[in-house]
Amino acid sequence: MKFSQMTYSRPDLEATKAELAGLIEAFRQAATADEAVSAFMDVDKFTVTIKSMIALASIRNSLDTTDEFYDAEKSYFDEVQPLLLEAMQPLKLALVGSPFRPALEEKFGTLMFTNIEMELKTFDPVIVPDLQQENKLVSEYDKLIASAQIEFDGKTLTLAQIKPYFEDTDRSVRKAATTATAQWFLERADKLDSLYDELVKLRTQMAKKLGFASFTELGYYRMTRNCYDGEMVARFRKGVRDYIVPIAARLKAEQAERIGLPSLKVYDDSFEHPDGNARPFGTPEEIFNHGRRMYHELSPQTAEFIDFMLDNELFDVLTRPGKSAGGYCTTIDMYKSPFIFANFNGTAGDIDVLTHEAGHAFNAYMIRDRAPSSLRQYTAETAEVHSMSMEFFTWPWMDGFFDKTQEATDSDKYRYTHLAGALSFIPYGTMVDDFQHRIYENPDMSPKERNDLWRELEGIYRPWLDLDETPFYEEGRRWQSQLHIYVYPFYYIDYCLAQTVALSFWADSQRDHAAAFQKYLKYIDFSGRKSFTESIAGCGLPSPFEPKMQDSLATAAAQWLDERTP
Ligand code: ZN
Repeated sequence: MKFSQMTYSRPDLEATKAELAGLIEAFRQAATADEAVSAFMDVDKFTVTIKSMIALASIRNSLDTTDEFYDAEKSYFDEVQPLLLEAMQPLKLALVGSPFRPALEEKFGTLMFTNIEMELKTFDPVIVPDLQQENKLVSEYDKLIASAQIEFDGKTLTLAQIKPYFEDTDRSVRKAATTATAQWFLERADKLDSLYDELVKLRTQMAKKLGFASFTELGYYRMTRNCYDGEMVARFRKGVRDYIVPIAARLKAEQAERIGLPSLKVYDDSFEHPDGNARPFGTPEEIFNHGRRMYHELSPQTAEFIDFMLDNELFDVLTRPGKSAGGYCTTIDMYKSPFIFANFNGTAGDIDVLTHEAGHAFNAYMIRDRAPSSLRQYTAETAEVHSMSMEFFTWPWMDGFFDKTQEATDSDKYRYTHLAGALSFIPYGTMVDDFQHRIYENPDMSPKERNDLWRELEGIYRPWLDLDETPFYEEGRRWQSQLHIYVYPFYYIDYCLAQTVALSFWADSQRDHAAAFQKYLKYIDFSGRKSFTESIAGCGLPSPFEPKMQDSLATAAAQWLDERTP
């Protein structure tokens, strides 16, 4: 079904709760294992419908945040979702305590139960008002960012639209664009400070009400971290500092030299090559035509997938005023349809939509027929492996997106920047994680202390970046433009863990592309059935929690880059 034909109707709260209660009661009354399975499938089917309505409202709201109808629906769900969570609680309790649990585990696997047990720890009816307030604050942040209008170059630009100027060949343009953006954030600094302060305190309060010492523990449960803990993540961060930061710093020093500067100011960070960064050519339509060809050539599975996406209006990529910032991939479960949201801006980032977001969507498409829905759910780091690895698997088709007329072709520059970018991204993402750990361990920090902390961490994780003389950055406020810090606490190390696994797939694909892609399909098949660490082990990939892995991957990537500096 085409996206425009998918009908939305608001699920009435009382009717939904009543129906849910009846279905849960039927599950409880099951007299045999078969009856329990079938009653569980009924309730699952019903929740999928509700979740799909929430997804549709959320997508349509992000497509046009000025549309009053979906804005009201979004606010409605901000209020109602915690109540629905409450209505789901008896089902979760009934499942984990079911006399037929062994039979259900036999049929659906044990992972579902592990995850439900974690989810149960994250909720109690006493926190419903807090969850409602959290949703409201998060929506406020979203709205504020989407509302950004920056006067620049004689135009009024959104945050997505000003980004191409950050990589302009003219340094003064880069500086002016960065300053204009920084200025927009600075003018809202008080609001950004107070929003975050409220969120941190609110989350801490919820954690306390649930019996946790700090939000950190609750945050891990909310992310359903079912196979690694804070200690392992701390070890990962140390590995990043020990092995990846030095290599990234060397590559960044080479970048500075390449573009003829003694060091990198904030506004030089994204400018990679003296004659300009790789830029895709062609209209969005041409980009999508090549995307279709690419996925047709990659594998029969990706061919079927891309046709489904393109034939059903499941991409919305053109930037418009009022459209939310950023990009995402989500699923409208009842229609078994992934949906990709992005803001094209003429940079290489546009191609990432067709590789990264499409990697997410491909996974969702591949497992769309599984039931119950828990077999289509997986944790964030697992999901980011799907996307970040697809970015590497599509390398052989990059020529078709980038101009080949120059001596060092743009597709070569793209691949170089992509791989070098992966190495400098991991320290950044790890810093975001380190920041959040320290914030939630010290929830009473003042806004100034939070900024000072960020600035200190910049020196550890990105020592190559000169923050001076760039307002906003200079004060250590860069984190305020990082959506996840406000919206999805503790969601970020996931990208870093995933990037290291994606680098393993990259290394494999350099040796044997076809065999590596088969391994990737196997990894996809594990999603929803096995945990992150089990999936990695099941594919014979090294664990990102092993510092030696970071050392050898970073070294291999650096060697490739040294041989091919464009
Ligand atoms: Zn992603």
